Amino acid sequence: MRKPMAYRIHCLSVMFKMRLLKKIRLKSPTWYRKKCVNKAKLEAKERDNWTCQKCGKPVEGKNAHGSHIYNEGTYKSMSADVDNILTMCYYDHINWWHKNPLEASEWFKTKYPELYKTLRERARKTQIINWQKRYETQ
Ligand SMILES: [Zn+2]
Repeated sequence: MRKPMAYRIHCLSVMFKMRLLKKIRLKSPTWYRKKCVNKAKLEAKERDNWTCQKCGKPVEGKNAHGSHIYNEGTYKSMSADVDNILTMCYYDHINWWHKNPLEASEWFKTKYPELYKTLRERARKTQIINWQKRYETQ
């Protein structure tokens, strides 16, 4: 049975309004932060010449991971810091870096002593970042 015309028009107008709201919906700070993180990861991969910093193999596509040195959850203000991101292959990021944090941190200190010091200093300072502003001005 066909629904009355008025009802169908009502449904269409509700759908239209919802679509419009979705389009103009304000993005959360996390949304902006993630955008900044993705950009920083891409920059880190360019800097590392698309090479896994652990095993030295070339990486591309889904195998190219941007691995945070200071983790994203605790050190949000460093999450989009290119210096805080290393290029790794999927295996070394997931099965080595995240599974052996002590070994990984020793490896990092030995391989990048200067960067280790720099990041340690940065991690000490608490920063409040306006992610939307950062996203829009970069
Ligand atoms: Zn690797």
